[in-house]
Amino acid sequence: MRLVTFRERSTARLGARAGDQIIDLAAADSAIPSDMRSFLESGDGARSAAEKAVGSGRPSYSADSVDILAPIQNPEKLICIGLNYADHAAESGMDIPTEPIVFSKYASAIIGPGDTINLPSSSNEPDYEAELVVVIGRSGLNIPEADAMDHVAGYTVGHDVSARDYQLQKPGGQWMMGKTFDTFAPIGPDLVTADEIADPHGLGIRCILNGETVQDSSTAQLIFKIPQLIAYLSHVFTLNPGDLIFTGTPPGVGMARDPQLWLKAGDRVAIEIDEIGRLENPVAVA
Ligand code: ZN
Repeated sequence: MRLVTFRERSTARLGARAGDQIIDLAAADSAIPSDMRSFLESGDGARSAAEKAVGSGRPSYSADSVDILAPIQNPEKLICIGLNYADHAAESGMDIPTEPIVFSKYASAIIGPGDTINLPSSSNEPDYEAELVVVIGRSGLNIPEADAMDHVAGYTVGHDVSARDYQLQKPGGQWMMGKTFDTFAPIGPDLVTADEIADPHGLGIRCILNGETVQDSSTAQLIFKIPQLIAYLSHVFTLNPGDLIFTGTPPGVGMARDPQLWLKAGDRVAIEIDEIGRLENPVAVA
């Protein structure tokens, strides 16, 4: 399924795409929760009901007639992996990590497709990062790699907007403040369920800035694959349904270019991942 959160008469609702229609899942079956996190927490029963509703094809709205929002608005955790493509580690002047580098964003940074990325006037180095985002569907602590994919609900497209000066030049030496300004976590449009993606480690991933392709790689280049990430993270904390894992960005970021290329007001940034979708956002200064 291609699940979405959409707005209909000012209310956010859970939907699924069926061709050019959006099926209103909770209206089709009152046992289906109307928000994504509750839906994911409800497990296999809600999922089967949703598949049945998609099959019935109603009630539905034309996809053109509704606003598509971020697929999940309120994850418990938004976890990010740094330097997870070898070429990106090299262009950043950093060693290839021997263990995943982990930082976080807050849910307050989430925006959806078409929403504006607001650059803080306090940063002179706002940058783009195309990322595959894993959405957790089943709770687990100490998840073995062999079982990890059973904990994946699906995938979405993410943009890890990054204020490099805050990330790298502040004296604390940690990255989070540069990564979690409000609007710095665009995600969407669709949460594509895992059964729809034959190989999440074989997807083309691109960032297109004002029509120019500035990142162009494949998730085949991930250093730490999804099962390794899930096992690594869950040896420390419980992963819960709706948690998001931003898996890292390929080479081509603005920081590593000569001359460097920073986001600015008036830009349009699109992140594309094969089979998952295209996430486009305009850029403004807050
Ligand atoms: Zn990143």
